[in-house]
Amino acid sequence: MIKPYLSVVVPVYNEADNLENLYSRLISVLDKYGKSYEIILINDGSRDTTEAILNDLYQRRPDHIRVVHFNGNFGQHMAIIAGFERVRGDIIITLDADLQNPPEEIPKLVEAIETGHDYVGSIRKNRQDTWFRRQASRLNNLIRARITGIVMTDQGCMLRAYKRHVIDAVVASRESSIYIPALAYSYASHPIEIEVEHHARAAGESKYSLYKLLRLNFDLMTGFSLVPLQLFTIFGIVVSLLSTLFVVYLFFRRIFIGPEAEGMFTLFAIVYFLFGVTLMGLGIVGEYIGRIYKDVRQRPFFIVRETKEKEIS
Ligand code: UDP
Ligand code: MG
Repeated sequence: MIKPYLSVVVPVYNEADNLENLYSRLISVLDKYGKSYEIILINDGSRDTTEAILNDLYQRRPDHIRVVHFNGNFGQHMAIIAGFERVRGDIIITLDADLQNPPEEIPKLVEAIETGHDYVGSIRKNRQDTWFRRQASRLNNLIRARITGIVMTDQGCMLRAYKRHVIDAVVASRESSIYIPALAYSYASHPIEIEVEHHARAAGESKYSLYKLLRLNFDLMTGFSLVPLQLFTIFGIVVSLLSTLFVVYLFFRRIFIGPEAEGMFTLFAIVYFLFGVTLMGLGIVGEYIGRIYKDVRQRPFFIVRETKEKEIS
C-alpha cells in the first residue's frame, strides 16, 4: 500500500447484503477520481456473513482495503473511532455501509476540503424519510443549536469529510459516548455544509430505533453543554420565589379568614406538576453523573479482535 491521500471509513454491522454493492461502487468512484486512497471497513461485531465477505474484499484489493474486526458490538461511533485511529490519509471521509449515502458524492466533498474547509457536513437532498421523522429532526435541530451552539442542518447524515487535524483531535478526546460530527464540528475552524443525495436503505434494516435516537440526543445535550442543568436551576429558583409569596399569602388568609379547604385539587395539580419536574431534574443530573461514571471507569471503548491490512511500503 502506498500512502493514501483519501481515507474512507465505513462502520459495518450486519450488512452482508450491501457489501458487494458498496465495494464495487466505492472502488469505481475512487479509481476514476484518480487520487490514492484506502478504505477502512470496521466490522462492529456482525452476526451474519459480513466477516467472511469483508475478508474476501480484502483479498481482492489488499492495496486499498483494510479490515478491522471488533470483538463485539460497540456501536457505530466507536467503529468510526477505530477507523479514525488508523487512518493514513490527509482527508478523511465517513460513509454508511447501507448505501443511503451514495459514494458518487465523495469527489464533491473532497473538492470542498481542497478549497480550504476542514469540515464538510452534508444535508440530505430529498431525504428518504417519513414526514413525521423529518419534523422530529427539525425540532431536535432547533433545540440542539440553542443548547449546544452546534449548527448542523442535518445531524443524521454520515457522509462527511474532514481534514486530518480535526480527526486527530477527535481521536485524542477519549470520551465514552460521543457523537462524531458534533465533536469534529467543535474542533473545525472553517466548517461548511453541502447538499448530497440520499437514498432509501438498499438492503437490510435500520439499526436505529426511536429509543436509540433519543439516547443519542441526551448524549449530545450532556456531552456539549451544561445548559440543561442551568435551566433547571433557574426554574427551581423561580418556583421557590413564587411559592414563598404563596405561603405568605396563605398565612394571612389563615389569620384573617380562618381555616379553609377549598381548591384542594388545584393544589394537588400543582404538587403533581412540581413532582414531575423534580423527577425530570433528577434524571438530568443522572445523565451527567452517568457520563462521569462511564469516563472515570476507563474501560476500553471497543476491543479489536483482528485486523487485515498491509503496511505502507
Ligand atoms: N452500524 C454499526 N454498528 C451499530 C449500528 C450501525 O456499525 O451498532 C453501522 C451500519 O452498518 C451502517 C451505519 O452504522 O453502516 C448506519 O446504520 P443504519 O443504517 O442502521 O442507521 P440509519 O441510517 O437508519 O440512521
Ligand atoms: Mg442507514
